[in-house]
Amino acid sequence: MLTVLSKLSWFFRQEWKRYTIAVILLVISGILEIIPPMLVGRSIDAINVGGMNWESIRLTIVQLLTITAAAYLINFTWHYKLFGGAFVVERLMRSRLMRHFLRMTPTFYERNRTGDLMALATNDLQAVSQTAGFGILTFMDSTLWMATLLVTMTVFVSWKLTLAAILPLPIMAILVSIYGKWIHKRFMDAQDAFGSMNDGVLETISGIRVIRAYVQERAAESKFAAVTKDVLDKNIAVVRIDALFEPTMKILTGASYLIGLGYGAYLVYHNELTIGGLVAFNVYLGMLIWPMFAIGELINIMQRGNASLDRVGTTLGWKPDVAEPDGKAAAKVGEEPGAIEFRGVTFRYPSSSVDNLQDVTFKLKPGQTLGIAGRTGSGKTTLIKQLLREYPGGEGQITISGTAIDTINADLLKSWYGYVPQEQFLFSRTVRANILFGSRSGNATEEELLQAISSSVLEGDLQFLPKGLETTVGEKGVSLSGGQKQRVSIARALIADPHILMLDDALSAVDARTEAIIVDNIRKTRAGKTTLIATHRLSAIQEADWIVVLDEGRIAEQGTHEQLLSLGGWYKEQYERQQVDANRSEGGEL
Ligand code: ADP
Repeated sequence: MLTVLSKLSWFFRQEWKRYTIAVILLVISGILEIIPPMLVGRSIDAINVGGMNWESIRLTIVQLLTITAAAYLINFTWHYKLFGGAFVVERLMRSRLMRHFLRMTPTFYERNRTGDLMALATNDLQAVSQTAGFGILTFMDSTLWMATLLVTMTVFVSWKLTLAAILPLPIMAILVSIYGKWIHKRFMDAQDAFGSMNDGVLETISGIRVIRAYVQERAAESKFAAVTKDVLDKNIAVVRIDALFEPTMKILTGASYLIGLGYGAYLVYHNELTIGGLVAFNVYLGMLIWPMFAIGELINIMQRGNASLDRVGTTLGWKPDVAEPDGKAAAKVGEEPGAIEFRGVTFRYPSSSVDNLQDVTFKLKPGQTLGIAGRTGSGKTTLIKQLLREYPGGEGQITISGTAIDTINADLLKSWYGYVPQEQFLFSRTVRANILFGSRSGNATEEELLQAISSSVLEGDLQFLPKGLETTVGEKGVSLSGGQKQRVSIARALIADPHILMLDDALSAVDARTEAIIVDNIRKTRAGKTTLIATHRLSAIQEADWIVVLDEGRIAEQGTHEQLLSLGGWYKEQYERQQVDANRSEGGEL
């Protein structure tokens, strides 16, 4: 049960000053609390034997006041230190989680659901934080404080009475540990259910348009109701055990009081105990109730903290499946990338049962443009992603400047890239901020910004946005059309003027004419830099230096536009069909 404390020992070591002060003050405050009942007991005995005078009353009052004032200060300080620590550990662990999330590759996000990850960063970290705050308090109170009380009662009042009155204690300890085991299991279940519920909320909100369009609100509602019911049931299951704690404690402490009073009266009657002693004893017995509760709370909190810490630990333990070459092993490559070469590249996604790329070979000199064509699902995205190193590499070799890319420092590698994925993502910020996000240094000039905007043919659209460049987009602002989003994403990639630009079907929602302009702009502004364009619309790549046509992960055809046309295969057929369509719609949207 206390393993959770050892799992957090790194934190206690780091914050040792804070915890040393808190623990020492807790002990002092315990000792201070023991004195008043003793003073009261003595006074009662003094009254009883008629030895009470004004002088001794005044002394007692002064003593009590002093103790109260000291306790005030001490209690404030340990509380402040201890519960402050709880927030510190929460923050530390949350930053650690975030850092981890940022380092993780797509495989991690395919295996872990977003809602679960969010539950980790909120609910579970709160449980850990409780352990480091309230957990330590209950730990101290149920051990040291209880021992102090018991010793005081034994030494200063009566060992016989103490022994008798604490007889119900072992029963309590046994029951509490049984409850603790139950709670642990049920709490884990409840946290898991909470994770699933988070997922449900996320999915419903992000899919709200689809749900509405298919009139699935009712279905979504009842599905969600089932999920919340599950969370409720599992939390109720926790509460049911939680609720057992208090009545159990009440009965057992009631028994203690009964023994204390009954046997105590007997001892007084037989002159083995003074009345003042009996009064003090009962006050101590009352004080003993909290530490006994604290045992229960302690087990409860430690179990929860442990369960949560384990969940967080499992997630933090995920090793990225793409190893980063360490400083020494990292190959020496120039600041600027040279030719890109694929040699017999065969690749399969971790969750796929077939090869998604097979024996792909081509070479792209710096400054050249590669067109990637093929039907949906043929592997165009997969090919581009090979350069991003998001997944563990397959067979064959991918080199840039003759160096295998898995030996190139990842930061350097990525500093070369500008990448516009198929599904673009805009942050809920202004258009300007979204575009500037692409300039890694963050200090792109206004001129560069305007250049990127004009290359991606965005000026026209900006006029119609309520605040132009300063319009907030996304969840909290204006919704952009698919084509607008794509062009903002392209501007974001262009602003850094990357050495290697990868467009993955990045203009699918833009009409053919605009696409032609953008492709033309890109060609003009990117002289001498490498570009990879995957697209459905072949007109966008007809000027490319080299075109590969993929089919089920293999290169089915390759060559220049003219070569492919004369080959008379899929490319020719597709190109001609698109020309006919384009003429029919007079250059309108495809
Ligand atoms: P394209 O971009 O040409 O439309 P993709 O490269 O996206 O095609 O997909 C190629 C194949 O890889 C498809 O059969 C797809 O189902 C599969 N695939 C894509 N992404 C993953 C993934 N993350 N895990 C498993 N299979 C995937």
